[in-house]
Amino acid sequence: MTRIHRYRERNAAIVKRKKASYLKQHGHLCCEACGFDFQANYGERGSGFIECHHSRPISEFVAGETTKLVDLVLLCANCHRMVHAARPWWTLEELRAALDTGQ
Ligand SMILES: [Zn+2]
Ligand SMILES: [Zn+2]
Repeated sequence: MTRIHRYRERNAAIVKRKKASYLKQHGHLCCEACGFDFQANYGERGSGFIECHHSRPISEFVAGETTKLVDLVLLCANCHRMVHAARPWWTLEELRAALDTGQ
């Protein structure tokens, strides 16, 4: 399951579109949960770098259905790991809530 999920997250075309639309809207790429900006932290090497998470479980997809931009969430590596660290996977809201209580 996680492997299929990961495979879908490597769908380069849709990920590229998601990044482009986020960039246009926010002016820079950053984690939608914690705000981590790879370029700001790592310089040129981090330019354009962010992980892309599919917020809808594969089991909810019907045959032939394609991924929509709204189903994608940009996450830093830490947040993305935490989403998948246990079942059920966290939603973006749950992830944000966990970050808040951890402060
Ligand atoms: Zn993050
Ligand atoms: Zn994911």
